[in-house]
Amino acid sequence: MRLQDKVALITGAASGIGRESALLFAAEGAGVVVADLQDDAGQATIKEIEGKGGRACYVHADVSSAVDCEAMVAFAEKRFGKLDVMFNNAGISHARDDDAVVTEEEVWDLTMRINLKGVFLGCKFAIPALRRAGGGSIINTASFVATLGAATPQLAYTASKGGVLAMTRELAVIHARENIRINALSPGPLRTELLMKYLDTEEKRRRRLVHIPLGRFGEAKEIARAALYLASDEASFTTGTNFLVDGGITAAYVTPE
Ligand code: NAD
Repeated sequence: MRLQDKVALITGAASGIGRESALLFAAEGAGVVVADLQDDAGQATIKEIEGKGGRACYVHADVSSAVDCEAMVAFAEKRFGKLDVMFNNAGISHARDDDAVVTEEEVWDLTMRINLKGVFLGCKFAIPALRRAGGGSIINTASFVATLGAATPQLAYTASKGGVLAMTRELAVIHARENIRINALSPGPLRTELLMKYLDTEEKRRRRLVHIPLGRFGEAKEIARAALYLASDEASFTTGTNFLVDGGITAAYVTPE
């Protein structure tokens, strides 16, 4: 098994990418801590993992709160004895996030608090735990939008993900000699709740699909497989990278008919 004897903490693991990663990491032998705000859905993830013979437990944590982030890391170490993998995955995409003129300060601040400060806090409290474990892997979820501009703006979201990329690079360099690998994982457009609530008509979905060479939306499971690679020792020489798993969207100038 690819994560035998490892312990992983995954934020935003009640839904989407985080949930699929929790299921996959547990199936690959890891003890998994599921952190989220949605307690019922988080507990459902635990039940599913346990039903398949895996090891997991749930902790309520708001990633924008330093107190919660410190407590979730302490919980992981207490429950499983150590922490090897920190997956800072929780994120939001606000319905009123728009261009610079329209986006309200409140929407900007909330997005930055969760998407950017949340990743900072996850790193802040996980790094000492990873040191205690003798090293480890941090995965920070960014997005393809940190690399490409779009005429359908989500300015706060895009800026927050750009921040995640820059922060990830610098942290990777700072902590490389401590055997702590830190990578960004940048999904393309996925068929999860986060995106589909906006692409709610066939026409809107079709307009987006035109830009994706593979001609379809990605699945949360496909991102979980990339996260598994970054979490595992197979990625032992991979740090500071932006791992794009995006159906080719950032490679495309013109897409196939
Ligand atoms: P999702 O909405 O299915 O899951 C996100 C989870 O994060 C939810 O369970 C939610 O409760 C949790 N969460 C939100 N705010 C939180 C907070 N303050 N503290 C703790 N948990 C919180 O979304 P997803 O598609 O699985 O997205 C996961 C990550 O992937 C996000 O960072 C998102 O920005 C990124 N991403 C998604 C897409 C996409 O197309 N879906 C594309 C690129 C990047």
